[in-house]
Amino acid sequence: MDLTSGCVRDEPLDVVYAKAFVGGSGLAARYVYEMVDGSTDPLGPDNPLVFMTGPLVGTAMPAAGRCTVCALSPLTGIWGEANTGGFIGPELRFAGYDGLIITGQADRPTWLSVVAGRARLHDATDLWGKDTYAAQEQVRGLLGEPRARVACIGVGGENLARMAAVMNDHGRAAARTGMGAVMGSKRLKAVAFRGSSRVPVADVDALSQVTREAMAFADEDMSAIAIRLAGTAGSVDTMLMYGNLPIRFYQRAEWDPASDLSGVLMAERFQNRNRGCYRCPIACGRETRAPRYGADRVDGPEYETLGALGSLLMINDLEAVIYAGHLCNLLGLDTISTGATVGLACEMFERGVLGSASTGGIEMRFGDADMLHRIIPMIARREGFGDLLADGSAELAKRFGAPELAVTVHRLEVPMHDPRAFSGMVVSYALSPRGACHLQGDMYGVDMGQASEPELGIPAGDRFEVSEQKGRIGARSLAWSNLYNAMILCRFLMPGAECVKRALNAVTGWDLQTPDLLVLGCRIVALKRLLNARRGLKRCDDRLPDLLLEPLDGGATEARVPDVDVLLAGAYAEFGWDPQTGMPTRDTIDALGLRVHFKT
Ligand code: SF4
Repeated sequence: MDLTSGCVRDEPLDVVYAKAFVGGSGLAARYVYEMVDGSTDPLGPDNPLVFMTGPLVGTAMPAAGRCTVCALSPLTGIWGEANTGGFIGPELRFAGYDGLIITGQADRPTWLSVVAGRARLHDATDLWGKDTYAAQEQVRGLLGEPRARVACIGVGGENLARMAAVMNDHGRAAARTGMGAVMGSKRLKAVAFRGSSRVPVADVDALSQVTREAMAFADEDMSAIAIRLAGTAGSVDTMLMYGNLPIRFYQRAEWDPASDLSGVLMAERFQNRNRGCYRCPIACGRETRAPRYGADRVDGPEYETLGALGSLLMINDLEAVIYAGHLCNLLGLDTISTGATVGLACEMFERGVLGSASTGGIEMRFGDADMLHRIIPMIARREGFGDLLADGSAELAKRFGAPELAVTVHRLEVPMHDPRAFSGMVVSYALSPRGACHLQGDMYGVDMGQASEPELGIPAGDRFEVSEQKGRIGARSLAWSNLYNAMILCRFLMPGAECVKRALNAVTGWDLQTPDLLVLGCRIVALKRLLNARRGLKRCDDRLPDLLLEPLDGGATEARVPDVDVLLAGAYAEFGWDPQTGMPTRDTIDALGLRVHFKT
């Protein structure tokens, strides 16, 4: 779909691409690679915005109801991807498509319907300025399809806040890397999907069998059970115990009031009900309320939001944090980047790097929930000091001459997992294709035994270990996560590599063997790496922020700091990347079959 001309073109799925890059963010990266170069403006018409599903999406496989939104990121300048749950992924496939590539820029606010194999543009003048919940509802009404699934932006995306999210199915979010700003730059307020096409499955009986096994796994797996019972918020206490939950802008090891943010308390005092994505037996989502603020139906918060808008900012008033998350949902902002950028501003303010003259008189202080509630809408609207925050942490720190204070990797704000608590997170953060990311090689989950895959050489181990071997495990985990995000499966259901392989073979008719899984993952990571190199990413950018390399006093990580160089040396070796340039060697490119795809 080209928004400049209004032209729609249907293309069959490129089966060569699909076999090499599977789907989701892998397949999207393959398409985008052809369409951008080093000079493409992420907020310009030439940056393609891709909604992509994967081969398992919309099938009977549990926890496979996801969709990825990809483009060059206006926050980081490199590859951007954000993965969302809910129902839009399956509905896109039911509408007759595997994915949607949107180019150009509309000359006025627009929304797009994709219904039963037909895509049409509509005027969105009356939708512009609406919050994300109202916009989803209004689009369904305009379409006359009460069961349509809608992805949209809020005021944050409209105003090109660089941490703007794409929201869908109430409060589900494709949150990271500013995909909402890309959508806003195209003046595209919403996309609605509806259809009843069947999703192709090569071997229905084989898929039925593997589906039963995956469902049984979800019933018995302790990690899945824990998430079902308490949501991801239930892990706040555990993460505190490990020293993994960042406190006071990543600089404190302990803070007793952080336990006020516990998922158990949330369930007791503020929870309405559980919510799940399409065919998910876990249902990790939580509908909550914040009556003090007049909000009786709030999606979340999940663990990342409790950290980013809570402990990171020294706010332990759970209801206030729930409401802050709600504001981000309504306005369409990534809670991690929002919280981390506000946290940076507090740190700069308290160090005297930032003064009241720059903040418009706002006292940026840790522990101030009222300030947080005031500043979030200002970010989304780019009002006053909010305009500076809307460009993200790296830009804010640079503007005030303190780049060393930004807690970002490749300009993306660091999530709520501390590499001082789990050394393998060095690899997850430094080499993730989208910048600091906890969903691409979640080594904290590996070392806690939740995300380990011994069959793939990703065993749980000593969480503080620093060795090249640990770096290699981190690289394999990164590759495996990238394949997960290509199929697309939710990371909270991990029935094992063998089960996943059989599901993928059953749906596609391929004959993958277990070792092929890591080859696919490594190929996808290498593709994104090459794309990022084209965007200017260099070996010296593979680093952790200074503040994460300062030892903390006390707590569960006392005096521990991982050795980044040792861990990355192992990861480069595992990937077959040149340790000097950080790029795949020619041999690696050949071994992964990438030369067929690119003239390198
Ligand atoms: S575990 Fe949660 S995020 Fe994952 S598919 Fe289920 S409901 Fe969605």
